[in-house]
Amino acid sequence: MDIFSDPAYAMATEQFRIVADYLQIDENLRQRTLYPKRAIAVTLPVRLDNGRIEVFNGYRVQHHLAMGPTKGGTRFHPSVTLGEVTALAIWMSWKCALTGLPYGGAKGGVAVDPGTLSARELEALSRRYMQEMIPFVGPHTDIMGPDMGTNEQVMAWFMDTWSVHQGYASPEIVTGKPVSVGGTAGRREATGRGVIYLVERALNFMKMQPDRCTAIVQGFGNVGAVTALGLAYKSGVKITGISDVTGAYYRADGIDMHKVEAHIKTHGSLAGFTEAQSIPPEDLLTMPCDILVPAAVEAVITEHNAGKLRCRILAEGANGPTTPAADRILNERWNEIFVIPDILCNAGGVVVSYFEWVQGLQQFFWNESEITDRLFRILEQTFSAVVKRAKSEGIPHRLAAMAIGVERVMAAKKTRGLFP
Ligand code: NAD
Repeated sequence: MDIFSDPAYAMATEQFRIVADYLQIDENLRQRTLYPKRAIAVTLPVRLDNGRIEVFNGYRVQHHLAMGPTKGGTRFHPSVTLGEVTALAIWMSWKCALTGLPYGGAKGGVAVDPGTLSARELEALSRRYMQEMIPFVGPHTDIMGPDMGTNEQVMAWFMDTWSVHQGYASPEIVTGKPVSVGGTAGRREATGRGVIYLVERALNFMKMQPDRCTAIVQGFGNVGAVTALGLAYKSGVKITGISDVTGAYYRADGIDMHKVEAHIKTHGSLAGFTEAQSIPPEDLLTMPCDILVPAAVEAVITEHNAGKLRCRILAEGANGPTTPAADRILNERWNEIFVIPDILCNAGGVVVSYFEWVQGLQQFFWNESEITDRLFRILEQTFSAVVKRAKSEGIPHRLAAMAIGVERVMAAKKTRGLFP
């Protein structure tokens, strides 16, 4: 569909075609399963601190409504387009179905660099975005959460804007909120914790010792930082490469993560970090390591570098980091590189968001160890199901994970029937 035209949408479409061919899905059902149910585009005028009014484009896409409300994050990033948001919503659908959550996928976003806004401007943009979405979202319709460029504070502004409109506090409208306004313990760390759990599971599967391994992590935001610090401090993995949007750093004998934390605290980003060698960002992913974690943007592993990856485990913290053309190369390298596909690898975030939503609806809160236990149980079941299916059918992990997700969505659609 032309209105969704975007490289990320092309990736999501091609991945779906591959799984649809594999599952021999009737042509008649393919469009119904792939195209989003609703796609909303809004215009967001915001008064800047200098008095000028700037207009931003915002989107929300709800992929399918067959299994419950839709669920998905909100991205504030300059490259956000309707097509990218649609791809992210589609991936959310397969992810929720794969992990057994009662949701369809959704995603939203605003084309903006939040780093260029003052706190007041960011609040105005966040509130205006939620205001425009009020007719289309709700705790039983579509629940928002954080993604790249948004955080707990933005979620609190979303929740407050929605609640003011309703006339009562409604924490269950968003997940990823601060605990002080009904957020759940462990949500901020959930995605990274999930990545670490699955990396350790893969290491165990491959009979590798974490404390003898090295890791490279691309992106040092919510997912990347929690993953890198947890791998270093808890698992004993040596972190040899890190990066963020300002640059990439490598040190073969290991980067002192305490120094990284101190640098970020003082400077707000990795820019100017001197305790490791600054390298061209495009070289980071092909440096030798045991564990490679892309945790930033889409399409960073392509047909140009997939053959050059020198890792044993590719743990996809980001959504859509690997293009279908790169997948074809990685499929041939299946006995060299164990891929933990994105819809499994970063599912910890939406699983704990689901816990947050359930707690909000019931106004009954669990403690962090209950949450982490339940998270790990779901990830364990899902990891085992994906590995088992891949092995029994001799297919790549991504195809196995997507097949499970797509089959569940299709079964729900089939059972409910087509109205009218
Ligand atoms: P974030 O905004 O907290 O951090 C993003 C990080 O990536 C920042 O360090 C930024 O500097 C860096 N970055 C941006 N562009 C880059 C580039 N071109 N090269 C290298 N680094 C770059 O975002 P996040 O929440 O950590 O999300 C990262 C990825 O994980 C996204 O793909 C997102 O969709 C996915 N994800 C996030 C969650 C979550 O709970 N936050 C859950 C599932 C998946």
